[in-house]
Amino acid sequence: MIIDLRSDTVTKPTQGMLDAMMSAQVGDDVFKEDPTVNALEEKIANMFGKSQALFFPSGSMANQTAIKLHTNPSEQVICDKYAHIYNYEAGGAAFNSGVSCNLLDGQRGMFIANQVIDAINPDAFYYSQTSLVAVENTTNKGGGACWDFNEVLKIRKVCDDHNLGYHLDGARIWNALVANNETALQYGEVFDTISVCLSKGLGCPIGSVLVGDDEIMKNAIRVRKIFGGNLRQVGYLAAAGIYALDNNIERLKEDHDKAKEIGAVLSQLPQIKIVEPIETNIIIFELNTDVDETAFVQNLADNNIKIIGMGGGKLRIVTHLDYTDAMHERLLGVLKGLK
Ligand SMILES: *Cc1c(COP(=O)(O)O)cnc(C)c1O
Repeated sequence: MIIDLRSDTVTKPTQGMLDAMMSAQVGDDVFKEDPTVNALEEKIANMFGKSQALFFPSGSMANQTAIKLHTNPSEQVICDKYAHIYNYEAGGAAFNSGVSCNLLDGQRGMFIANQVIDAINPDAFYYSQTSLVAVENTTNKGGGACWDFNEVLKIRKVCDDHNLGYHLDGARIWNALVANNETALQYGEVFDTISVCLSKGLGCPIGSVLVGDDEIMKNAIRVRKIFGGNLRQVGYLAAAGIYALDNNIERLKEDHDKAKEIGAVLSQLPQIKIVEPIETNIIIFELNTDVDETAFVQNLADNNIKIIGMGGGKLRIVTHLDYTDAMHERLLGVLKGLK
């Protein structure tokens, strides 16, 4: 048994999901004639209370499209130094939209309204014009941390006061909703655009969706086309998304519970300096300086347990749909044996 905890993207579709995919009704999405894509887009738009939703092959393409819709070349996006849009989208914001990022020094990928206020450039011709604030919930590099919704609201106010767009990279928003008993609707009310992933905790093989209201989304489909994301009979993939929304959201709590149990064991190990707070399905921990990281990871690999390094001496474990109770038992056993 291989226990792959490198990411929640390693899951494979379940039989139920495959059945839903294979029986999907499809059509050419360019003519907006794929009924399953249309149903998925309508379902997610309704969940977030937005008038529009658009299906994307990846979360990066959805985020990059949002940045393009909110900005003009030479302008600036405010985001955390850990942000996926800055770190893990291959410099796409600069390449696709010609914008720079003003990186905030937040905590676990999250910042506060006052930091945003300080980061907005004055209205002088020699400054880049600030046009967008981007938030990530849960934070990826921040270890699955969840935002305080009150801060999210305060930043909305700052955006209103300064005429800035407000985007949520909600790749793992489902985890935040489950962990904090929040609703998609409350996020939809606050953000102008939200990207969500179906291929992380929800277990789809592919798929993201960008939601927003008519005005901001007017050009979304054109931008997706420009970015090479034109789609045809992808109802087979959208069907996986619908299945996941119906079946795989509430169960995220199981991933969160398992993550907390793993964290509790990790924090007892002499090799480990610190386990970051665990709020959802991501565990980030640091080894003591005298412990060799490569050897630690290799030792787990020799036990058929795969985890991943995050750089800077940090290691990451992510729980997910394919991480079974049996795997959990075995992992905890192996970890306890490291003492
Ligand atoms: C996974 C992820 C994305 C999207 O990544 P893709 O690999 O392009 O699907 C975006 N934001 C965050 C925070 C993510 O974790």
